Amino acid sequence: MMQHYVATKKEYPDCILFYRLGDFYEMFFEDAVTVSRELELTLTGKDCGLEERAPMCGIPYHAAETYINRLIERGHKVAICEQVEDPKLAKGMVKREVIRVVTPGTVLDIQGLDETKNNYIMCIVCTADRFGISLADITTGQCLVTEVDKERKLLDEIYKFMPAEIICNHAFLVCGADINDLRERLHITVYGLEDWYFDDSTCRKTLEKHFHCKTLKGLGLDDFSCGTIAAGALFQYLYETQKSNMGQMTSITPYFSDRFMLLDSSTRRNLELVETLREKQKRGSLLWVLDKTKTAMGARMLRSFVEQPLIDQEEIDRRLEAVEELNGQPMIRDEIREYLQPVYDLERLVSRITYQSANPRDLVAFKTSLQMLPYIKQLLNSFQGSLLQKVQEDLDSLEDLYQLVEESIIDDPPLAMKEGGILKDGYHEMVDHFREAKNKGKQWLSELESEEREKTGIRNLKVKYNKVFGYYLEVTNSFKNLVPAHYTRKQTLANAERYTTDRLKELEEEILGAEDKLSSLEYELFCTVRDTIAGEVVRIQKTARAIAALDVFASFSCVAQKNRFVRPKLNQKGKIDIHDGRHPVVEQMIPNDMFIANDTYLDNGDHRISVITGPNMAGKSTYMRQTALIVLMAQIGSFVPAASANIGIVDRIFTRVGASDDLASGQSTFMVEMTEVANILRNATSDSLLILDEIGRGTSTFDGLSIAWAVIEHIADTRILGAKTLFATHYHELTELEGKLPGVHNYCIAVKEKGDDIVFLRKIVQGGADKSYGIQVARLAGVPESVLARAKELVAELTDADITATVKDLAGLKKPKSKSAHYDEVDMTQMSLFDTVKDNDIIDELKDMDISNMTPLDALNTLYRLQNKI
Ligand code: ADP
Repeated sequence: MMQHYVATKKEYPDCILFYRLGDFYEMFFEDAVTVSRELELTLTGKDCGLEERAPMCGIPYHAAETYINRLIERGHKVAICEQVEDPKLAKGMVKREVIRVVTPGTVLDIQGLDETKNNYIMCIVCTADRFGISLADITTGQCLVTEVDKERKLLDEIYKFMPAEIICNHAFLVCGADINDLRERLHITVYGLEDWYFDDSTCRKTLEKHFHCKTLKGLGLDDFSCGTIAAGALFQYLYETQKSNMGQMTSITPYFSDRFMLLDSSTRRNLELVETLREKQKRGSLLWVLDKTKTAMGARMLRSFVEQPLIDQEEIDRRLEAVEELNGQPMIRDEIREYLQPVYDLERLVSRITYQSANPRDLVAFKTSLQMLPYIKQLLNSFQGSLLQKVQEDLDSLEDLYQLVEESIIDDPPLAMKEGGILKDGYHEMVDHFREAKNKGKQWLSELESEEREKTGIRNLKVKYNKVFGYYLEVTNSFKNLVPAHYTRKQTLANAERYTTDRLKELEEEILGAEDKLSSLEYELFCTVRDTIAGEVVRIQKTARAIAALDVFASFSCVAQKNRFVRPKLNQKGKIDIHDGRHPVVEQMIPNDMFIANDTYLDNGDHRISVITGPNMAGKSTYMRQTALIVLMAQIGSFVPAASANIGIVDRIFTRVGASDDLASGQSTFMVEMTEVANILRNATSDSLLILDEIGRGTSTFDGLSIAWAVIEHIADTRILGAKTLFATHYHELTELEGKLPGVHNYCIAVKEKGDDIVFLRKIVQGGADKSYGIQVARLAGVPESVLARAKELVAELTDADITATVKDLAGLKKPKSKSAHYDEVDMTQMSLFDTVKDNDIIDELKDMDISNMTPLDALNTLYRLQNKI
């Protein structure tokens, strides 16, 4: 046995080998040490013909799934080596084989997974100039393929799908991508596969064979040569680990990443699309507001919508139309939602069915779900829009499969598959026959019991059964003297004797024979039913997707009605015009409709940039995020929180907001901030929407102001970028830009002074804020009065006049520099405010200045002094 163990382990060196011995999975040697540490199990030892005892630990087989899930969560792979023949029938050692390798991206156990999320495995192929990407969720049968040309775009795809596991070629491991970041921060398991997985022609053949097609053209993979390799390698890996033909993977969907709005990782986090920034929970995210789906399939699809907003107007309009139609018939929508309620996760069920791991209860759950389909299909007739019509067409009510399960499987079957009691009476002749034999047997036994009582006069004689001794006649000691000679003793107990007779033996054989035959026949027939369903996987998956889509739109519709959302209009002219817009999440958090609605107007012409000032806590970031979220919701196909909205479709949304939660080690806050600014300036286009909050806050006042200034100039210049931008700042000096730079306008969030205090009005109005009200906000936050009083004194000494005067002059001096349209670098030297000052003394002095160690006060004084020199 140990030799076989060692040989098997050699074949799976990077896996923990679960080796089945009777009712346990055992682990030996290093695996035992690892598992006992990870799962806090006791480590024991076993004599195995070696000098020392082998370290060993074990877990009961029936509890294995929980343990496997815990190991997988910690990034291990588990190879399950099973007994593949019945130990009772085995001659010599029981045959064992690895039946599956479970890896983080290939978990099948539904309990171990979040049903509202896909569990993806991603394969990445890095070549000289491209990355091929393929993704699969084996629990739902979804498979995607794409290609990108830059590492950043690859990272965007990784952030979008957040795979549990990445497999890749060696080139990817050494291409410079931060693999440790993927592993440690994002908890993705990353494995390099051997080169042979990525052989071009093998990959092609693998896919052709899997999808039964002569050429890959039919699969739409023509434009994806390295994507094809990624997909081919992925399938080979899946075959190898799953030991299955992957029958649930019935289609492969190539996509271009630019079909969707581009959102980088920090924007996804900052806008809190699927989880909150700090607590990392769904409550408080956009998804939390939008997801009122009834089924797991719907929840997964809605999440993918939120993660991939569209940019094609027609496609968005089709979705909006579906929501509007459902809004128009709320009674029918609500009825549909009631029918959706009991629908189980058909996608994952059908995968378990094709994997032959579905149990009888899964089939009953399947049937319960199918029962709803004809009603839903019927109700869908009420809608004419193209999307809901398509859902109606794709939704197959699968009555044949419903009938099959209805006729065959009892309504409340046991979990066990091999102990019978699964099939309905009347489904199969032989099953009925054996059942009769089994039931008759009971009758025979009770007849035998009364006959024997009569013959022997033993009044309390009983026919009983146990697993070890089978059937026997039990006689208590007080009647022992009446036992006839032909009774053979089987067992002696303290107060009774157990016997058998020839007749009882005969009956026993007949009864037990019928039981054995019955359970194996039931199992066989159950498998046939399951395989018949598996044969219809394509129809079921198509229906599951139609149900998911319907669920999503019905959820959008309910949410829209409940929260008073409106259908946005869309335009291609780049105009964003929102009346009385609200923040979809914040408005839910504030009691009694207290949220103050605000307008937003941005376009590609005269209103490209809004510079928003106002004290802290006024509501600047809420306002900016609400604009971004309204645009994003519109492009998802959802109604939006506003009185009306006309949305010019944007290709990307970028956000740069104050708090950064994931400071990569060794980088200062300012460095992270600037890296993000660099990314935005390099990758935004004139069709993008930028949300910039407090740029330049992380450094000294002058540097910060200068950078913020230069960034606005850069964005405002249509020859360089010209993107629509909301720019919040506490540098009032930036309000000078209005009227000097085309496209820039000032806004502020109104506050009212009330003695020493301020009242936040939350209303956005034209114009710049004249004060920062820092001291008032500090008072609201509870800073002691003595400190506030001292701060007030200092403010009086240090008036803004100096700096404002300086900046005003500079604004006059500075001309925006034009650069080529292919401006690709953030050139910090270009950002200096002082590059037109020619006086060498001043320049020298500036050069020698240690700005990062200056206090704002030093900086002001210095600037004042320098100005006087000119
Ligand atoms: P700022 O970015 O100006 O510091 P925030 O946007 O963070 O301010 O807003 C501070 C708080 O004010 C928010 O947490 C929210 O509770 C409240 N708030 C913001 N905007 C509104 C609004 N339009 N209506 C009601 N409350 C608001």
